[in-house]
Amino acid sequence: MLIQLTYASRTSKTLVPEDLKNILASSQRNNARVGVTGALCLANGIFLQQLEGDRTAVSLLYHRILLDPRHRDPAILDFAEIASRKFTQWSMGSLASLESNRAIYLKYSRSASFDPYTMSPTTLRAFFDEIMHNAAWVS
Ligand code: FAD
Repeated sequence: MLIQLTYASRTSKTLVPEDLKNILASSQRNNARVGVTGALCLANGIFLQQLEGDRTAVSLLYHRILLDPRHRDPAILDFAEIASRKFTQWSMGSLASLESNRAIYLKYSRSASFDPYTMSPTTLRAFFDEIMHNAAWVS
């Protein structure tokens, strides 16, 4: 069964670009092996990640990610069956800086600062649909 899991967490310290590069590199390597795809955003010290794939594979991966000391305060925001994947291009894609995607972040925010913890599943799905087509990504 194909599912998507969306969660948010806070960075546990100020991350340097190298941290994000490492997270992305291990994500791409590991996710490709287990058939998980998805997208990772980092804005205002908050990670927002959507994972899609087999229910068991996504669940096992999420529980491993939870153990990572580079973030804290994880919260599952959406968990649902999906008919098909969105992020077929990436085992894990990462959104470019907040500055380069500011208009998209603002479009789905209630306030001036992007806060995924307050977003509904409907808004989150619309956000991920939009970034799929219109966002700037880390190349
Ligand atoms: P390696 O990548 O070789 O790393 C070895 C060990 O060192 C791991 O235990 C790792 O946690 C730790 N480590 C490396 N760098 C640091 C650092 N700077 N600070 C603290 N510990 C460090 N992994 C995935 O496989 N798929 C994902 O989609 C994914 N998404 C993530 C999203 C977020 C927000 C975060 C914070 C982490 C994510 N990770 C993801 C990383 C995951 O938590 C594990 O670190 C990774 O899966 C371990 O991969 P590895 O066994 O190949 O170890």
